[in-house]
Amino acid sequence: MTEPPQRLAGGLGDADRAFRSAEQGGTGKDFDPAAVRAKYLEERDKRIVVGRADIRELDTDVQFADFRKDPFNPVEDREPVVNEVDAVIVGGGIAGVLAGANLRKAGVQRIRIIDEAGGIGGTWYWNRYPGVMCDVESYIYMPMLEELDFMPSQRYAVGEEIRGHLDAVAQRFDLNGDALFHTRVMCTEWLEDRSRWSVRTDRGDVIACRWYVLATGILNLMKLPTIEGMESFTGPSFHTARWDYEYTGGSPSEPLDRLSDKTVALIGTGASGIQCLAPLAESAKHVYVFQRTPSAVGVRDNRPTEPGFAERLEPNWQQDRMDNFQATILGVPVGADLVDDGWTHHYALVRNPPRPEGMAAPEYARSAEEVDFRIMETHRQRVADTVLDAATAEILKPQYRYLCKRPCFHDEFLPAFNNPNVTLIDCPAGIERITPSGLVVNGEKFDVDCIIYGTGFEAEMTSLPRRAHHVIVGRDNLDLATKWSGGASTLFGMLIRGFPNMFVMPAPGQQAVITVNYTQLAVLGAEFVGRMVSILEERGADVFEVSAKGEESWTRQIVESTVDASGFMSACTPSRLNFEGHPEQANPRNGNYGGGVGDWFGYRELLDRWLKAESFDGLELTMRSNSI
Ligand code: NAP
Repeated sequence: MTEPPQRLAGGLGDADRAFRSAEQGGTGKDFDPAAVRAKYLEERDKRIVVGRADIRELDTDVQFADFRKDPFNPVEDREPVVNEVDAVIVGGGIAGVLAGANLRKAGVQRIRIIDEAGGIGGTWYWNRYPGVMCDVESYIYMPMLEELDFMPSQRYAVGEEIRGHLDAVAQRFDLNGDALFHTRVMCTEWLEDRSRWSVRTDRGDVIACRWYVLATGILNLMKLPTIEGMESFTGPSFHTARWDYEYTGGSPSEPLDRLSDKTVALIGTGASGIQCLAPLAESAKHVYVFQRTPSAVGVRDNRPTEPGFAERLEPNWQQDRMDNFQATILGVPVGADLVDDGWTHHYALVRNPPRPEGMAAPEYARSAEEVDFRIMETHRQRVADTVLDAATAEILKPQYRYLCKRPCFHDEFLPAFNNPNVTLIDCPAGIERITPSGLVVNGEKFDVDCIIYGTGFEAEMTSLPRRAHHVIVGRDNLDLATKWSGGASTLFGMLIRGFPNMFVMPAPGQQAVITVNYTQLAVLGAEFVGRMVSILEERGADVFEVSAKGEESWTRQIVESTVDASGFMSACTPSRLNFEGHPEQANPRNGNYGGGVGDWFGYRELLDRWLKAESFDGLELTMRSNSI
């Protein structure tokens, strides 16, 4: 599992070959660790400022209430639904749809997905900003391709194609008909006398169910920063996850034809910001890009799916390809690197720098730092080679270690800065102030017609009870937020004592594992849910509960395997990965199976063995009265 990776096989496109070759031979610059560290710390310190992580509480924020509204589909009146189903799944994104599909395969009849969105898709329902794409390869990101006999049109799929595919999966498993969309679950409570969950929504629904599946995902809560004066801005403003095409015109793939006389502010240069800049630059009169921290923007090299690709694939190819990707990322030797992109080259290499036999730990740490430096240099060189204005290029160069932030991959973001109508505004300490007509940075005012917040989400570092976005009350009136106030406690990162018959889809930071390809984790979680329900049904079990011993032992394992990354993380630029500059906030209880990003293959094997054994170690089962 920990052997150094073999050098990965080639197959690169022309566009990125030159970029990547630099990582082999270096960039000609000598590596001076002390100087590099000093530079990184200097850049970090510019960004550690009071209030950096302050965000608005969108649920209760009256002034920004419109930010949550669905701009894509009208909310239709309907009567409240009061009934009982077999399973309620909260969330109709990838995890929810896959959980539904697997429950259906397990023979569960009445399945009700509930989602705040107006349809299937989750993240891909809401994120329809121009240029929206997935930066994980479509052939491993879009689930159930073999089952649906579907082949994505490109190596990296656009949002619309992903959303359409998820909808097709939902239809295949008959999940749309009973779904309740534009509906937020407010409170769910375990009814001990009936052994059922009772789910209450903001539409007056009261739905009882036997199985309760939390599939709320990791990108469901938009992050809107608190910026002085932002409520005084008189023009339109919106988050990238609620793009206002009424105002901009166009569509995710068409020019934004109402912006030709508009000056636009784009705040944020993370994965969303970098994807929507080029379409904005194409259509708007002017775009000011407000950048707090530059992203490392690697080569994407998107291209249409090659003719004949599908025909060459063997049965079970998608699972094999996902495994191949995951192994490569974890540094497990694989014959060929099938995905062969920035993740499997740069990310995998930085995670698992080669360690020649006999190399001592300090030497290895230095060599790892040098590998990291060379890769970051290739990113900085890419900026210098692409962006013509030297001052702008300097600001766009990422000055931190590669794993300090989630890397991005894009080919049109950097060239957009060569357009005369795009201006980069460097604001490492954030935006100073917003006025009725514009934004102020370092005392300089930039007048704009519209502000677009590409400021991201409360992702995996936000704890599950908050991301669940509703109150969950289990046995003995204990709610999940209270239970987890000191950190996560689970069995397998999916089952929680005191919350019988409830499944939590696995996610980073809750005692499961982390995957770059979220879909692979969702597939695993969904198959686990389906298989477990099927076995419980066969055995005649009515209720499962996690035993105290089962939960304690899993949680202890997680805590004991924690890898303390606070040294590395404290030298990083602030980001959500180090709690915005406070790595000491990392809670070992919220770690992953196997420590660090987790032992994916070990975790999967363990779940498989546990299901096959059918002994349900760590659970207490209540059998139906007529069962044997
Ligand atoms: P993000 O990566 O968190 O980026 C948010 C951006 O807003 C950052 O540039 C951040 O600056 C900036 N920002 C936040 N508050 C600010 C303030 N007060 N003033 C100025 N700038 C501010 O969010 P995201 O781009 O939406 O992506 C979130 C996650 O979604 C990603 O990690 C990724 O997993 C996922 N995503 C994936 C794809 C994909 O293709 N797979 C596409 C989009 C999103 P700092 O960097 O300084 O914090």
